[in-house]
Amino acid sequence: MTPEELLKSKNINFKYSSSDLVVNCLSPEHEDKNPSMRIDKITGIFNCLSCGFSGSLFRYFNKEQNLLDIRIQNIKNKIKKLVKEKIYKPLTAINFEKEYRNISAETFKHFEAFTDNESKDLEGRIAFPIYDINDDIEFIHARYINSDIDPKYINLPANVEKTLYPIKVYEPNKGFIILVEGFFDMLNLWDKGIKNIACTFGSSLVGKKDIGNVKVINKFSQYKLQGINKLYILFDGDKAGRIGAKKLREALKNSYIIEILDLEEGKDPGKLSTKEIEIIRDYIYD
Ligand SMILES: [Zn+2]
Repeated sequence: MTPEELLKSKNINFKYSSSDLVVNCLSPEHEDKNPSMRIDKITGIFNCLSCGFSGSLFRYFNKEQNLLDIRIQNIKNKIKKLVKEKIYKPLTAINFEKEYRNISAETFKHFEAFTDNESKDLEGRIAFPIYDINDDIEFIHARYINSDIDPKYINLPANVEKTLYPIKVYEPNKGFIILVEGFFDMLNLWDKGIKNIACTFGSSLVGKKDIGNVKVINKFSQYKLQGINKLYILFDGDKAGRIGAKKLREALKNSYIIEILDLEEGKDPGKLSTKEIEIIRDYIYD
């Protein structure tokens, strides 16, 4: 059953708007005269732009969701992408496999780190291919190796839609994942034994309240499909990190159990020591 079929079976009127269905808010507390609830046509995830009520249409009506529909859509997206130009690692890339910033060579190998001094864009940088759920490279993420001058991080192509990475959960049966802001935060925790980890490429995933929520919920649907139901948010111990963490919790609170792990002022996960990470690991894994 698709979200459209489900709405029809419940005699709920809806309109189409780009990739969404638009209905009167389903919240009993919201008398919605101008339809302000958007429902994702594929996942059935809904969000009311006016009151913020959000969740899954299937769960709301206690119906089994056909995950096959979502998988089919993923395949369609994959085909669409094949038609588009593919991104490859440059032929002149050299594997980066040594210790750097207190992170082991093995971890860099696992994430396929490379350098490419033949490339004008990547010269002097350590770079990583960012794979999507279908194992295609979505973009290349890179930072300067020996300096912090701006722009410290770049993406190729520039202005790519930021994603969550890795999007494939290492141990999905654990049911949880830890979210950090930066790629090197993710590397550091992975390196010290926290494998169910992903980076969000910045603390400001949730933009303007309304539209932002639907976008974020959709972004996280790939984790839901892999059986993740709990998120730990471990953003930087600064103002931006704390605000970002709270906004993210707000956007996802109806889809996940969420716990914010507050870091001391001035700390960030990329600089935590092995000892400090062990404390976090013991807390989460026990
Ligand atoms: Zn509403």
